[in-house]
Amino acid sequence: MQTAKTSQETQLVQLGVGQDQQTGAISVPIYQSATYRHPGVGESTGYDYTRSGNPTRQALEEGLAKLEGGSRALAFSSGMAALTTFFLHFTQGDHLIVSEDLYGGTYRVLNQVFAKFGLTVSYVDTSDTTAVATAITSQTKALLIETPGNPLLGIADLAALGQLCRKHQLLFAVDNTFLSPVLQQPFAFGADVVIYSATKYLGGHNDLCAGVLIAREENLAERFYFLQNSCGAVLPPQDCWLLIRSLKTLALRMERHCQSAHEIALWLEQQPKVTQVYYPGLKNHPGHELSCRQTKGFGGMLSFRVTDKETAAAVLKRLKLISFAESLGGVESLMTLPAVQTHGDIPAADRERLGICESLLRLSVGIESVADIIADLEQALA
Ligand SMILES: *Cc1c(COP(=O)(O)O)cnc(C)c1O
Repeated sequence: MQTAKTSQETQLVQLGVGQDQQTGAISVPIYQSATYRHPGVGESTGYDYTRSGNPTRQALEEGLAKLEGGSRALAFSSGMAALTTFFLHFTQGDHLIVSEDLYGGTYRVLNQVFAKFGLTVSYVDTSDTTAVATAITSQTKALLIETPGNPLLGIADLAALGQLCRKHQLLFAVDNTFLSPVLQQPFAFGADVVIYSATKYLGGHNDLCAGVLIAREENLAERFYFLQNSCGAVLPPQDCWLLIRSLKTLALRMERHCQSAHEIALWLEQQPKVTQVYYPGLKNHPGHELSCRQTKGFGGMLSFRVTDKETAAAVLKRLKLISFAESLGGVESLMTLPAVQTHGDIPAADRERLGICESLLRLSVGIESVADIIADLEQALA
């Protein structure tokens, strides 16, 4: 049996074990049922309809809540579904402050969907706490950040922002996709909500699209459960099972992602065609010290700038082992051109100002042999 003190690594491996009392199955059964028989009028087994609740999803959600230290986790059909449900909490006229160094899809849903419903947003460099404080208005209801940022890996000060949010009674939400609960625990710094694209590290195998929202306080969790059940973007039972299976190796995978990314970042810094490397583990990264204070590792994501956009295109064309593909956080290494792919929906002027141009490449370091990844980069940069 797990105790309250069980380490996160053990919790991950044991996720779902003991869930099936009837057979003792080690692996959580996939309850592929849309609905459930009622014993009688006004009686329920605890399950009525799968959008509202499903035992496989429940095993996943309970495991995730415990891992993060929140009161309740909710599993969604994608990271965007989790983020959308977060935004549905707000009403017309509410103002949000959001990281400017942010996933392009979040930017798109805010600007092209929620703007129509009267949500207003300020995009701010959230690695600058003063800039965040300055952006607060009487209508501001929440702060949503990504740290490290995407794709430039800027680091926000979780403790300072947590305090700021408390002082101004703002809901503090962290999209923790880049680090996972293994490396960063936003609740410890005063976050109210943690959101994941579980398509990335939590799923970890580039074979699943899923999202997670975890609330620290019970009443907020209830509100988000109401929204999840009302709007319906739940994670189906088979995908819940696949995510449980993936989470079992999360701690091991993160260890390898961190080690290899650090080694590759150091190697890239030495390459003549590479003009800048963005990785929080590098001592010259502006967020390095802050990272050391608030995270257990620097993660598996890095970006680097090459001499010009032709070189970037040539690198992408020549890659053999590393796939030129969108997404991140899987066991397979992937490289993207953020200006065109993940951040294509951010207006060109904003991209330019942020430095997301076509000579910037983003690498999601997989768990292949690091020597093989470096060899592939070496031939691609030749
Ligand atoms: C991918 C991603 C999302 C969106 O998640 P999907 O699972 O693709 O819907 C949100 N935030 C971050 C940081 C991401 O990387």
